[in-house]
Amino acid sequence: MDFLSQLTGSFAQPAAENPTVAMVEAAYQHHGLPWRYLNCEVSPENLADAVRGARAMGWAGFNCSLPHKVAVIDHLDGLGESAAIMQAVNCAVRRDGKYIGENTDGKGFLQSLKETVDPAGKNMVMFGAGGAARAIGVETALAGLASLTVVNRSEERGRELTAMLNERTPVEAEFVLWQGDFAVPPSTDIVVNATSIGLFPDVDARMALDLSSLQPAMVVADVIVNPPSTHLIRDAAQRGCQVIDGIGMLVNQGVIGVKYWTGIDVDPAVMRAKIEEIFQVA
Ligand code: NDP
Repeated sequence: MDFLSQLTGSFAQPAAENPTVAMVEAAYQHHGLPWRYLNCEVSPENLADAVRGARAMGWAGFNCSLPHKVAVIDHLDGLGESAAIMQAVNCAVRRDGKYIGENTDGKGFLQSLKETVDPAGKNMVMFGAGGAARAIGVETALAGLASLTVVNRSEERGRELTAMLNERTPVEAEFVLWQGDFAVPPSTDIVVNATSIGLFPDVDARMALDLSSLQPAMVVADVIVNPPSTHLIRDAAQRGCQVIDGIGMLVNQGVIGVKYWTGIDVDPAVMRAKIEEIFQVA
């Protein structure tokens, strides 16, 4: 591209440090990669133009967050397997000149989970039925999970997710309405909090859970990144369970996204260190 055909822009970044940007840029710098990861605010009415702009400017891809995860599908050229099942995209990847929508949230969680336990053939209880829960449910189901109990406060959302999982994945899913302290069945191998309970600033919020039902053989995971040491994580560790905090999911979705865009495997430890620095993890 010659000088005249270049378009060089300047825009103000939001004042607060964006943890995902800082994490990905830290990996690029650590590996000496000549890539950039920039955060742009895009309103819903500008989404189509933003994706056209990304195409025009030759971006290798982009992440998108709420409220664009579903709406962006109309502007892409295709979907990866799990994104097609859950009908939600958080990562677009340019392949052969086409933008394909993927969902790396669930893949990031799965990677993090697999470092402790392989979900194949296991029984899982998952609290929540929102975007994170959909991604985790679909990805663990595709990885061979035997059974999944979705526990959610609102019945409609919980039933919808359970029906989708039963229709489109091999897992056996059931819904339980979350009323009072939920007792985790003893046959459970994995317990996941995929709700926003515990997220800053409501750090003292506790899940309605019968803690005495948590057994040491269970693996307990939380999606909350800020703060990563939630009440659930601390209570489960105290009960002797193996615990997985939300940082692993965030880091791994970043590692997977960078691999999709650049073809390069970056060091997750560099990304985790940056996130721990931002959230001041001791
Ligand atoms: P959604 O708004 O789509 O879903 C929120 C879920 O939490 C719903 O199931 C909702 O239940 C439930 N919930 C919220 N408050 C309560 C409460 N007080 N009691 C019971 N249930 C409650 O959010 P997302 O799924 O997108 O995100 C959920 C969390 O996951 C967020 O905190 C987000 O930061 C985190 N996350 C972490 C990622 C990571 O990389 N670690 C990646 C993506 C998300 P109901 O349906 O009844 O409203």
